[in-house]
Amino acid sequence: MEGKIDEENKEKLGTDPNFHREIVWKNAIFFLLLHLVALYGLYLILTLQVKVLTIIWIAILIVTTGEGITMGAHRLYSHKSFKATPFLRFLLIIFQTMAGENCMYVWVRDHRQHHKFSDTDADPHNATRGFFFSHIGWLMSRKHPLVKEKGKSIDMSDLEADPLVMWQKRHYKSLYFIAAFIVPVFLPVWAWKENVWTSTFTAFALRYALVLNFTWLVNSAAHLWGNRPFDRNILPAENPYVSWITGGEGWHNYHHAFPWDYKTSEFGARFNCTRFFIESLRTKGFAYDLRSASEEMIERRCRRTGDSTLFSTQMGG
Ligand SMILES: [Zn+2]
Ligand SMILES: [Zn+2]
Repeated sequence: MEGKIDEENKEKLGTDPNFHREIVWKNAIFFLLLHLVALYGLYLILTLQVKVLTIIWIAILIVTTGEGITMGAHRLYSHKSFKATPFLRFLLIIFQTMAGENCMYVWVRDHRQHHKFSDTDADPHNATRGFFFSHIGWLMSRKHPLVKEKGKSIDMSDLEADPLVMWQKRHYKSLYFIAAFIVPVFLPVWAWKENVWTSTFTAFALRYALVLNFTWLVNSAAHLWGNRPFDRNILPAENPYVSWITGGEGWHNYHHAFPWDYKTSEFGARFNCTRFFIESLRTKGFAYDLRSASEEMIERRCRRTGDSTLFSTQMGG
């Protein structure tokens, strides 16, 4: 039924090829500077000018902030694909704040809107407009009027009823400054006397730019390249490379067919460490009520909308 509503929306909305996009220069300059500084951070690492402990710290930050996005913002808050104890929700909100990808409320609203109107002008990162726009361009240009208009139709009542999410939304600017900048940069300076600039270029800029690009690849590469065994009529595709980089978010044709499945992939698929983390947290009692599509549901969907040439290999795998 949900799929049917989405198909109707797409027919009516589509993508206007003549729409002229207005650039938000403040954001464009910020992203340009961030990437330049991140490249310098990479140079510092490659030329062995960064302490080993700082590199370990960066790796920990990439995994935890990445999970704040994939497990927290995406699978838990956007799709309600499992339930989490208050402690786990709190932890995921902290990690999501450290990732610096906007507050949970805005992240979830944009993402629910992306699913409801995917690849039309009402989708914030409409992949019909190409790689650059769906990757980063959408964050440096004014929203299409349809994004604003249809954004109001997204049901956010569950997040509005969540005091922690609304508290983060109210104080997001200060929380972002503390969690995404101060803590990542100054912990290495305080704990093992890393140079403050080295820490800024690597633990802030490089780590931040990497996780942003990993997230954006799901909106760009996984909407453009790969096969479509579950729904041949949509852009989202199965992209193992994106899955490998993002902890399992690249099985995107499946994800758009069954957005509420905690695995975001058929049978769990390979390269899906977020699935592994969620299942480990279930054994410890932090995650429960995991939702998943049955084999029969997947098979029915493949027969109805999938690609028959891929069907037998997919079901065999
Ligand atoms: Zn998508
Ligand atoms: Zn999703």
